[in-house]
Amino acid sequence: MNRPYNFSAGPAAIPAEVLEQAAAEMLDWHGSGMGVMEMSHRGKEFVSIYEQAEADLRELLAVPAHFKILFMQGGGLGENAIVPLNLSHAGTVDFVLTGSWSQKSLKEARKYASQVHVAASGEESQFTSIAPASSWELSRGASYLHICSNETIHGVEFHELPDLKALGSDAPLVIDCSSHVASRAIDWSRVGLAFAGAQKNIGPAGLTIVIVREDLIGHALPVCPSAFDYKIVADNQSMFNTPPTWGIYMAGLTFQWLKRQREGELTGIAAIEQRNIAKAELLYRSIDQSQLYVNKVAPNCRSRMNIPFQLRNEALNDAFLAGAKERGLLQLKGHKSVGGMRASIYNAMPLAGVQALVDYMHAFEQQHA
Ligand code: PMP
Repeated sequence: MNRPYNFSAGPAAIPAEVLEQAAAEMLDWHGSGMGVMEMSHRGKEFVSIYEQAEADLRELLAVPAHFKILFMQGGGLGENAIVPLNLSHAGTVDFVLTGSWSQKSLKEARKYASQVHVAASGEESQFTSIAPASSWELSRGASYLHICSNETIHGVEFHELPDLKALGSDAPLVIDCSSHVASRAIDWSRVGLAFAGAQKNIGPAGLTIVIVREDLIGHALPVCPSAFDYKIVADNQSMFNTPPTWGIYMAGLTFQWLKRQREGELTGIAAIEQRNIAKAELLYRSIDQSQLYVNKVAPNCRSRMNIPFQLRNEALNDAFLAGAKERGLLQLKGHKSVGGMRASIYNAMPLAGVQALVDYMHAFEQQHA
């Protein structure tokens, strides 16, 4: 089946192979007589799905043994509260603001953390650049430092995670990697906790993945709800309460799909990362070479996943979107806070989809020159 190319920022396109497999298994999973949504989460069938998904994610992202993988609910915004509820006991929480999502995280943390501090902010540049880590004003003895490693709305990505130890800080780094998780490798030596809503690169909405260093678990504030206390969740293999079983199953199918990806000699995350680089380069090059389209983000922090761009003649916005839809290029409208267009090109978007977009953009520009 020839599906349109879907550039949604999230919930986002899921690989067709994954959807087809889920459809085939919908009524009867592996001869069990049950669909996955109808199974007890404690039964052997679902436990095998869960264990495979966890093992595959650990393998794909090379998650070290001293990190726990938790399958939770509440989304990225839920984690904005859950992280400070679990990690802010030691004192000030530092934030580096690089766009809307880190701003939201800061606002929420204020409710729970005794003190928050903005170590750096890109607001003056309208979030088109990231100040070098060496210029950040880190608090002494901070509980943790929060960054959003890929800002979905502003299209700003950390191409390298900051090395806080090298900056003289022992604070763990917390990353909101919702919109680029599984698109590239993660340097775990620099990370204390990573969280991500699943609905962009991993599967349907409703599942949140938390990967947390073991020594950070077990320090929740007394007010922390039990279902969100990392220790209780970890001690119960993410089954203290009923986990989002369908989301975990779909994530598992996506992890299997990721493991099958190949680019030359590369497999898995390395292969998808290579493809993501090629996709992003193709789109940025075509924007930069045009007279009509513009992306204002500094090249050293342009997102590979979310590429916002404006038409210099904004009166053409509606015509651009209508023409795109006619060609089967869906959900390109930019976020209302920045306007213009946004192409989200997560793992499920093939290079051919980006090529189709670039071809359309070029034809549209010529038509309106
Ligand atoms: N963080 C980032 C980087 C996001 O892109 C989003 C959703 N677009 C969120 C957090 C919020 O996620 P949720 O809606 O699942 O709470």
